[in-house]
Amino acid sequence: MFCPKCGNADQAPETYCRRCGTFLPDLDKPKKKAHTPIQNVNANAVLSGMTVVAAATLAILLYAILGFREDTHPLIYATAGFLIAITAWNIQTFWRSMLLRKHFKKPKRSIDEPVETPVLEMPKNSELPAGNFDNFVPPSVVDATTRQLDEARISTKSKQ
Ligand SMILES: [Zn+2]
Repeated sequence: MFCPKCGNADQAPETYCRRCGTFLPDLDKPKKKAHTPIQNVNANAVLSGMTVVAAATLAILLYAILGFREDTHPLIYATAGFLIAITAWNIQTFWRSMLLRKHFKKPKRSIDEPVETPVLEMPKNSELPAGNFDNFVPPSVVDATTRQLDEARISTKSKQ
């Protein structure tokens, strides 16, 4: 590749130019896509929602299938309690994400929204004012100038 600053050829990308020392970025390398805040909030909300469903379901299943028996190990209750804690924690995370979403969703004006431009009222042909020829240069002046230039060119050519 060529150095964009000094134009030195035969340069390796992702290095410094051998002549001027400018850093040469690899332009073919795909750029990392930056996530917008609303995208991060949405991803967070989806993950929290899924965790709530999974943890709550597991806790209910643990209690329903293995709980409240004579031989139920205390670890079952501990695990189920932990799952309920996870559920509660993710419910509040989900709720906070929803509040943040609301906050991001009310921008004053979207960037994509076109700005209203005032329409200029053009006068109709009949409304146009009559021509003003006070400062009009007659074509004869232009003709004379062109002729003089032509003559000057011819004279210089004949001298050579
Ligand atoms: Zn250079």
